[in-house]
Amino acid sequence: VSRFEGIAMAPPDPILGVSEAFRADTDVKKLNLGVGAYRTEELQPYVLDVVKKAENLMLERGENKEYLPIEGLAAFNKVTAELLFGADNPVIKQQKVATIQGLSGTGSLRLAAAFIERYFPGAQVLISSPTWGNHKNIFNDARVPWSEYRYYDPKTVGLDFEGMISDIKAAPEGSFVLLHGCAHNPTGIDPTPEQWEKISDVIQEKNHIPFFDVAYQGFASGSLDADASSVRLFAARGMELLIAQSYSKNLGLYAERIGAINVVCSTADAAARCEDIDCTLSRDMEEMVVKSVRLVSDVWNITHYLLLISWCPLVNLCCNWDSVKGVLVKSQLKRIARPMYSNPPVHGARIVANVVGDPALFNEWKAEMEMMAGRIKNVRQKLFDSLSAKDKSGKDWSFILKQIGMFSFTGLNKTQSESMTNKWHVYLTKDGRISLAGLSLAKCEYLADAIIDSYH
Ligand code: PMP
Repeated sequence: VSRFEGIAMAPPDPILGVSEAFRADTDVKKLNLGVGAYRTEELQPYVLDVVKKAENLMLERGENKEYLPIEGLAAFNKVTAELLFGADNPVIKQQKVATIQGLSGTGSLRLAAAFIERYFPGAQVLISSPTWGNHKNIFNDARVPWSEYRYYDPKTVGLDFEGMISDIKAAPEGSFVLLHGCAHNPTGIDPTPEQWEKISDVIQEKNHIPFFDVAYQGFASGSLDADASSVRLFAARGMELLIAQSYSKNLGLYAERIGAINVVCSTADAAARCEDIDCTLSRDMEEMVVKSVRLVSDVWNITHYLLLISWCPLVNLCCNWDSVKGVLVKSQLKRIARPMYSNPPVHGARIVANVVGDPALFNEWKAEMEMMAGRIKNVRQKLFDSLSAKDKSGKDWSFILKQIGMFSFTGLNKTQSESMTNKWHVYLTKDGRISLAGLSLAKCEYLADAIIDSYH
């Protein structure tokens, strides 16, 4: 008998399981709108030209395969934080951001979850209802308690803003609030800039900690800056925040597993203290402290740092506390990463560092991103047009145009979604989410027929 007798079959993953079912279907009309991966108009996977160029450069340079440090590639960590906040952002200039390379968005979220579990025991994470299916798995596995805030209003297929605000208000003070930076998955519904302001008001009032999941920067609107505006709004308020980043979609690096976790460390009073004091004399002092903390970070543990810092009152007065805190947070993130996977992979990190760090490649990337975002927008428009033209019931389909990003939430329920698959060979997640990135203009009419038939 096997020692593994007691182990039962695990259920298929609700998203990746859809691709498995798709592969098994032999019908020529089949359409995979389950997984969020960009396809060309011919429905083929796409490797960005800038990625190929960066890889050629890497080959020419003959770079080695030595281990990276625990925190990842320094050049990557620098550009990824700058891309997120903008290089001129005060949080970057004042070194308030602790960044470590993660195993794409998922791995970075998981690292942050482990950090929360260890240093904020009992704190809960608020997640939107609905959200990307893996969020619950991530916090469950990290043993971080979570609860949901209202987000989606089925009546309007829009944002339940009042519900969202009141649930964030009702949560215990000091909770983490998980927010999708842009292109909310699965609904494609984002708050307006005014609504983001109100959300940050409530989070600040309640002393919550915002935790952004940024999986689509540049991919949602085609603009890197516009898609980061929610995060930047929070950072500009001097709030402490966590941000997980992913390069799966915007650089098409799905399988390279490249992303980062950023922690902005600052408090209003600490920031103010540093601004109040004439820091000219203390600049060298500050650098010295940060350097020495970095130097010992691999050898000493947290108690030693704290001793070192509290022992020196001059440091307390003159140094930029926030950047020191960044060093402390970073050291603990590294401590969590080391026994999990030791150090991250180098290939994707080098691609990102090359593309973002080189002005010519960076501009080419932006053009390719606009092209991808543009194709998705065209497909969205065509699907809306086809639905509106074909559906004689008078149903208003304009919600599809209001959504943003690679997904559209159709409002189809579980039974209707199953009919899409069983009758029409259209594969989608059971919550009625379709990936427009997996749709071509040529298939919009067929999809519209399938949706209308399944709805009514
Ligand atoms: N967060 C959200 C909201 C996502 O949609 C995704 C990708 N589907 C991710 C995180 C992470 O993906 P990855 O691990 O491939 O970067």
